Amino acid sequence: MKIMINGINANLRFSSAHIIPAHDSCGFIHGHSYFVDVEIEGNRSGDYDFVVDFKDVKKSVRTICKQLDHRVLIPINNNNMNFKDLGDSNNLKTLDFENRKYVEFNIENKYYKFPMEDCVLLPLKHSSAEDLSQYFAYKVFEDLIKKSYEIDSVSVCVNEGIGQGAFFKKTK
Ligand SMILES: [Zn+2]
Repeated sequence: MKIMINGINANLRFSSAHIIPAHDSCGFIHGHSYFVDVEIEGNRSGDYDFVVDFKDVKKSVRTICKQLDHRVLIPINNNNMNFKDLGDSNNLKTLDFENRKYVEFNIENKYYKFPMEDCVLLPLKHSSAEDLSQYFAYKVFEDLIKKSYEIDSVSVCVNEGIGQGAFFKKTK
């Protein structure tokens, strides 16, 4: 059986700034009001025969939304971003940025410097809807497995406003 949660109606949203490095139009810093739709497939189980308790799903998604909300999204494994004093972007970990007050990087001939507290560092190649939907799906899947639900998949659509989004399905 499948349960579905609509991000607009259930208030699973966040607003963030990002850059798609080296892209013609999205290579300029800009923002989106994102919302997150979720679908979960699995067996009904437990005292109430739920696939999952909606409350548990919303809590998991909201925790991630809260981390991203009102921040600049920094995909630390992006090949077009060169971080100051740090090595190969493919192998960077969020820990490598520990104790830094600023996130500093260049993209081609543009240099950026943000206060660390304004940013969220993501272990991703891109801060696109595609990478974000994958990020959400893995995290929500992990949270629900920890709660012993018998789920087969978690699908997440991260929408960049109304009318366009990327959908990723994480299976067992
Ligand atoms: Zn964008």
